[in-house]
Amino acid sequence: MKLAIVEGDGIGKEVIPAAVRVLDALEMDVEKVYLELGYGKWEKTGSAITDQDIEILKSCDCILFGAVTTPPDPNYKSVLLTIRKELDMYANIRPIKPLPCVDCNFEREDFNFVIVRENTEGLYSAIEEIGEDASYTKRIVTRKGSKRIAEYACKLAKSRKNELTIVHKSNVMKSDKLFLDVCRETASEHEVEYSDELVDSMAYKLMVSPEKFDVIVTTNLFGDILSDMSGALVGGLGLLPSANIGTEHAFFEPVHGSAPDIAGEGIANPIAAILSLKMLLEWHGDIMQAGLVEEALESSLNMGVTTPDLGGSFTTEEVTEAIVEHIEIKI
Ligand code: ATP
Ligand code: MG
Repeated sequence: MKLAIVEGDGIGKEVIPAAVRVLDALEMDVEKVYLELGYGKWEKTGSAITDQDIEILKSCDCILFGAVTTPPDPNYKSVLLTIRKELDMYANIRPIKPLPCVDCNFEREDFNFVIVRENTEGLYSAIEEIGEDASYTKRIVTRKGSKRIAEYACKLAKSRKNELTIVHKSNVMKSDKLFLDVCRETASEHEVEYSDELVDSMAYKLMVSPEKFDVIVTTNLFGDILSDMSGALVGGLGLLPSANIGTEHAFFEPVHGSAPDIAGEGIANPIAAILSLKMLLEWHGDIMQAGLVEEALESSLNMGVTTPDLGGSFTTEEVTEAIVEHIEIKI
């Protein structure tokens, strides 16, 4: 596997080395390509990501990414949006599942679902007209875009409980009828059991009974909102991994940002980054190694080796070493 590694800014520089340390412990055949992208690079060179960087990223199989700080400067080209577009990463995946010994924000701990969000269309089309008295954003839903995200979600559902929930608002926005129809057709073709929910009602149900859901597929903006909201179920930004999947490439990153407030202190929780590595291994087909990472992580949590955000007093490095030790015993 040829892996691009982008630490980025802030705590990205702490949690990605932690994930790489775990990867090294697995003793796999990986060619690592380090790239500097983001705000730090922009300050030094005037550009956060160059065409040459894109070419290098395209030459790799997948990307492990930390976090970048995005300044409110209109001339700043967003690194994430650029990569997503250039590498055509159409699916954003967020698994939501509780971890052992972590105080969840909610009573229930028996949920385990995945949000599959369409990443290229919907209200994030960037086709806009901004005026003094009226502004418009075009909401795009295409058969092709809906089909490929539906296919992805159905394949994922087949590898899990074979249940798909299609989330939309087609009663109000007619553009969502196409999305809903394509998802229904695709689920029937794959013999996946499906149901659909209006997004507002879904937001309520996810908070009240998250255990009722398995794979959820939805459009760009709804997925964005439901993903962050569901993150609250798990109990901390430092625990949430995500993936952006395309036809040829994939990109894995913790959900959290660069957290400038704690950067440099060595106390950032590396779990989100390490779980992002686990998703990367699964995507690449290294299922045994992915399982080992998860097991090691759970064992360190069970032993109470946690960073301050989870109430512990361990550093990023100490948590990482506890996980690495477990892997080294097993490998
Ligand atoms: P950015 O602008 O890059 O998104 P941010 O200030 O929004 O940065 P986030 O990373 O999104 O910061 O997270 C918000 C807060 O949550 C941080 O300020 C930090 O205190 C906490 N946090 C986020 N990630 C972690 C982590 N891995 N470990 C510990 N605390 C974290
Ligand atoms: Mg943020």
